[in-house]
Amino acid sequence: MDEAEARLRIKRRMLVERLAGMGEFLRGSVVLMKRRCAYPGCRKCASGVNHPTWVLTVSEKGKTRTVYLGKGRVEAARQMTREYRRLTALIDQINQVNRALLTRRGISKKGAGDGEGRTSGP
Ligand SMILES: [Zn+2]
Repeated sequence: MDEAEARLRIKRRMLVERLAGMGEFLRGSVVLMKRRCAYPGCRKCASGVNHPTWVLTVSEKGKTRTVYLGKGRVEAARQMTREYRRLTALIDQINQVNRALLTRRGISKKGAGDGEGRTSGP
């Protein structure tokens, strides 16, 4: 293992530790939807204001699911979706390190040295 590989492995260990420390996360977006109600004579709906409602939208198998939040759960949902974005960013970083390590493995196989190819196969 050379110095660059050792650095990558240290970086990966640090990133994985951060992964373990992640808080509650939730995939989706917190949005304010303007819903129409069932009341035929509703002034708000007639004027186009409608009824602003906080929801969580999340795509699942190509469909968008909408989950009612109400004011009481907006902040919690925002925090959890923020955490989800941090989680995916972290996974991206680990992915890059893993790719770099995998690429290096190919290089070390070509070079005369560790005998990796000889010990693994029959
Ligand atoms: Zn209405």
